Amino acid sequence: MSFGSSSKILRVNLTSNTLNVEELSDEFYRLYPGGKALAGYYLLREMPAHTDPFDPQNLMVFANGLLTGSPVSTATRYIVSARSPLTNGYGESEAGGFWGPELKMAGFEALLITGRADEPVYLWIHDGEYELRPANHLWGRPPVEVEADIRAELGDDKIRVLQIGIAGEHRGRFAGIPNDLRHFNGRNGRGAGMGSKNLRAIAVRGHQRYQTMAYDSPALMALGRKLAQEVSKNALSWDLQQRGTPGIVEALSAGGILPTLNFRKGTFENVDNIKWEVYEKTLLTARRSCYACAVRCKREVAVDGKVSAYGGPEYETIAAFGSNCGIDDLQMINRANEQCNAYMLDTISTGATIAFAMECFEHGLIGLEDTDGIDLRFGNAEALLPMIDKIAHRQGIGSLLAEGSKRAAAVIGGDAVHFTMEVKGQELAMHDPRGKFNVGMGYAISEIGADHLVVTHDPMLANPESASFKAARPLGITEAQPARSLNDEKINQFFILERWNSMEKAVGFCFFGPAPRSFILPEDVLNAINVATGWNVDMAEALSIGERGTNMARVFNAREGFSRKDDTLPERLFQGLENGALKGQAMPREDFERALTRLYTLKGWDPESGTPSRQRLEELSLGWAADIIEAARVA
Ligand code: SF4
Repeated sequence: MSFGSSSKILRVNLTSNTLNVEELSDEFYRLYPGGKALAGYYLLREMPAHTDPFDPQNLMVFANGLLTGSPVSTATRYIVSARSPLTNGYGESEAGGFWGPELKMAGFEALLITGRADEPVYLWIHDGEYELRPANHLWGRPPVEVEADIRAELGDDKIRVLQIGIAGEHRGRFAGIPNDLRHFNGRNGRGAGMGSKNLRAIAVRGHQRYQTMAYDSPALMALGRKLAQEVSKNALSWDLQQRGTPGIVEALSAGGILPTLNFRKGTFENVDNIKWEVYEKTLLTARRSCYACAVRCKREVAVDGKVSAYGGPEYETIAAFGSNCGIDDLQMINRANEQCNAYMLDTISTGATIAFAMECFEHGLIGLEDTDGIDLRFGNAEALLPMIDKIAHRQGIGSLLAEGSKRAAAVIGGDAVHFTMEVKGQELAMHDPRGKFNVGMGYAISEIGADHLVVTHDPMLANPESASFKAARPLGITEAQPARSLNDEKINQFFILERWNSMEKAVGFCFFGPAPRSFILPEDVLNAINVATGWNVDMAEALSIGERGTNMARVFNAREGFSRKDDTLPERLFQGLENGALKGQAMPREDFERALTRLYTLKGWDPESGTPSRQRLEELSLGWAADIIEAARVA
């Protein structure tokens, strides 16, 4: 018997309309305890090589973390994985909110969805029961209406609805999936994948509390209560509660690493118009949370005087539509956020792609005749809403931009390729790695394309007196290192942090939960796993869970032809910032390449190709993945 888990997965074939349940053994689940690890296993083992992201055979895995839904703050996450239509590689994005915990309470750890329905459908899961229902009447309609209609149709206003929007229906390559309208699997085109399957929504409702599945429920409850009290004692988690992610806009600009004008600059002259104090005064209506999370970092806002159903803009969105597009109108950024969310577009890729188009416009590569008269100058706030509209509906130039900036640049031609700020086809998040080099390594090496959640950001481990540095000691991090360094010790730390963060994505923690980023000390992370399951996971096993996750994703990409050449950064980042506190600072190319070789070596990957070795895979109990690599070589 397994503790901490229902042990069940639901398989859905939309083509044949068949649904069936499988049980996971405790032994299997300990190797792949949910989230990134469980999703990576099924994606790599079951999806045929070279499956087109829009082919019905593209498998979508919705996988809860082991602890998702437990009373431990920030353990709210689930992963959605599939081959990415944006990168053509391993695709993954995570979200919090309430949907994952509800799926757990409904009796399932994961959903494996393949095929394509003839007509739009939605999946309804409740207390161990499941069925596909028609969704023709929901297709093309605003998410806020779809959610209300599903709840009314099923007669329960507590049903949690995960769904796509118009962007996903049109297979926009960076369409996302929200739950409860405001918690996003934003990145990597997950919404396009659902749209290609004619799957409009997944509604869930359950009543089995996590505590009833736990090995030591009183200990888990006590840990949950203790951790809830820790939030206010940690400066980083307390700041998240007070200001949320929008609180960092001003500091990043002052530090010279706020992406500005498509990453040309690191300081935004008009940052005072988009900083937290303006947000708090002019937009904020309430603070909210994900399931059972005491951090409460989510913001609610008013748009044009009316409370938005879609939640407030996060830091990433403010930077993507604001400084990176040269726009200082916070009200318009707020509207752009709501419009993206109503269409279910990833705000990072949408903002970054518009910034790319603005630079093309500035250089005359596209003109008013291409934009249907939209003046796409940097700084023109009026351009945002019509451009988002076009991208979501794939109208005019919006159809090209909905392909992502890399594909758009190939069509536009000329110098456009120099204006794309992407890795493996996914646009950079709003963190300039020229001020935090390990974040740059994370962008480069991430299997899903540029991703800012690969490692703890460098400044948090640069000060030996900081709480975050001290909390990292049990991970084996004992020397503070400068943010702008790629020395050998820094790369050792990258290797540790990448495994630790990957483990968090397996067991269901939010990036804002565990140390060193936040308030849950490593021993409490392990304690949570062990009182939930009855296992005795130690640090070495926790890191190997994370390493297993990254290696399965890496093998997936190796099979699809990705290699070291894809682990790089946009050329612009190897050049100096044009202004601010770090003016002239570049990512040093030689250091970067040397660090990449060192990292591959630490990971047991071939330094030339970046492919995992059989020996390392076998040490991780992934000998079957080594067979996949060898079979791909023969083919
Ligand atoms: S820290 Fe914020 S995003 Fe993370 S689980 Fe808590 S409320 Fe959700």
